Amino acid sequence: MNIDWELSGMIIWGIGIISWGIIRFRPNVKSRKTTITTTKRPLKERFSMLISQMGLGILPAIWVFTGFPQSLDRTTYPAAVIIGALIFIVSLWLFRKTHKALGKMWSHSLDLREDHKLVTSGIYQHVRHPMYTAFWMWAFAQPFLLSNWFAGFAGIVGFGTLFFLRVGQEEEMMRGEFGSEYDDYVNRTKRVFPSIY
Ligand code: SAH
Repeated sequence: MNIDWELSGMIIWGIGIISWGIIRFRPNVKSRKTTITTTKRPLKERFSMLISQMGLGILPAIWVFTGFPQSLDRTTYPAAVIIGALIFIVSLWLFRKTHKALGKMWSHSLDLREDHKLVTSGIYQHVRHPMYTAFWMWAFAQPFLLSNWFAGFAGIVGFGTLFFLRVGQEEEMMRGEFGSEYDDYVNRTKRVFPSIY
């Protein structure tokens, strides 16, 4: 049997994105019902969300459906597609876990909701931003799965922009709300990767 690995990579990427949407669907409906009490959405935050969506979704989808930019196509390696698929699977598992842990406290931007509690247990005892860890994994799976330099690396640039512009602001917002409880949490955890960063 002759496997088309380039196409397989695209299909796995597509299934990953759809699964992502399915995992997020219910938390989205639920959290919308909970009133937002504080919101921090400066222009920088809106801009970086758009860049992230471009890099993780729109630009790679353009390549998948139109082949643009063809000049940046690269050779497909079966091993790379398999590695990409494995990273994406772990990322989806982690994504689901973080949504379960945050429940109605989740927001796609920087918001605090009514009765907001600081979650520091479960997956949140290991790192402070496990959902962003899951997004980083998605971003790193993309260049393995998509055999085009531009579509592949757009995710790392896109999510990287959002992450680095947002994470400090998010921590500042959480410190403003939870004070020393948050400081203690910061002192015993790393941001996205245990013991490293
Ligand atoms: N940065 C976290 C959450 C991303 S969702 C992660 O990567 O897992 C963003 C929203 O989650 C923020 O608006 C904030 O209100 C909320 N949030 C972030 N960390 C939280 C925590 N430890 N407990 C409760 N809510 C949190």
